[in-house]
Amino acid sequence: MSLAARLARPEILALAPYAHARWEPALERLHANENPWRDELDRSAAGLNRYPEPHPAAVEARLAALYGVAPECLIAGRGSDEAIDLLARAFLVPGRDAAVICPPTFGMYAVATRIQGARLIEVPLARAAGYAPDAAALERALDDAVKLVFLCTPNNPTGNEVEAALIERLAARLAGRALVVVDEAYAEFGARPSLAARIADLPNLVVLRTLSKAYALAGARVGAALAEPGIIELLRRVIPPYSMPTPTSEAVLAALAPAPLARARARIERLKAERARLAAALAPLPLVRRVWPSAANLLLVEWHDAPLALARARAAGFLLRDFSRGPLTPAALRITVGAPEQNDRLLEGLAAP
Ligand code: PMP
Repeated sequence: MSLAARLARPEILALAPYAHARWEPALERLHANENPWRDELDRSAAGLNRYPEPHPAAVEARLAALYGVAPECLIAGRGSDEAIDLLARAFLVPGRDAAVICPPTFGMYAVATRIQGARLIEVPLARAAGYAPDAAALERALDDAVKLVFLCTPNNPTGNEVEAALIERLAARLAGRALVVVDEAYAEFGARPSLAARIADLPNLVVLRTLSKAYALAGARVGAALAEPGIIELLRRVIPPYSMPTPTSEAVLAALAPAPLARARARIERLKAERARLAAALAPLPLVRRVWPSAANLLLVEWHDAPLALARARAAGFLLRDFSRGPLTPAALRITVGAPEQNDRLLEGLAAP
């Protein structure tokens, strides 16, 4: 039995997927109850009156090339949020299975697990070790009910990267019985190579990527799960047909052409430089207690008076994310690295006497 079949919810294995209308672009479509006319406001190439391709093959092929995997090793979804949801729905048996998360981390792993009615096991990151995962505690948490282990690198909201060796050890330890899901939403801002290259030799590794951060397409809602083909095939049973809207597919294919891609890469470099400048300028401010090092487009900053910092930022016109009540992020706020002039105005507001 394949790994995917061994780990999947039995209902998903038994499922006859929804039979969508045939996709044969050479023929005219009188089979899908669409409207034959498009309005003059419709600027799309394919026509918004038509359903999109049931599974966006061209977009998935393009994303697979971007991330360096074979197309059958990738499924695209509405943001990596959808990939997280698909994993929970395909693998977690309600009331029986469990997912492990390492807080403080991205909130959707817990939400998707709870919506699925599965158990959530929390293994906090070690703040004293720069928010590295606690390998020994992880080891103790891995009971037989665990099907998914979520790790985020670089992590949101702490910004640190997770050692690849730890992830590889964990995947080896869980081989054949659970998936290690590595969320690389911020990988383009970091220094380490993607683990996408390892899915061929670690069959229980799933890597999540997104166009929302480095590629400036959060509004288009595109992310992907990368894994061995059996796992991807299983997720395809769960994702709704037509899940990628036509304007999104067209925006992605345009954005990943050579010229815009080169511009995106230049913006990533600018953002990394801006992150270093912002961190260096924040550190000496009287209100700042600590700026955590970051490999993402965010900075976790601890303050002598977090409510005052939040109020000053707001007075300067900025929303920051408040983590100050989290047990592992005392007096901390998360700042997204902005454009240089935004960062200047924020710094000025925070320095206000
Ligand atoms: N993973 C992480 C770590 C995130 O921080 C976010 C967004 N904040 C996401 C996934 C979801 O991103 P999207 O659905 O836009 O791909």
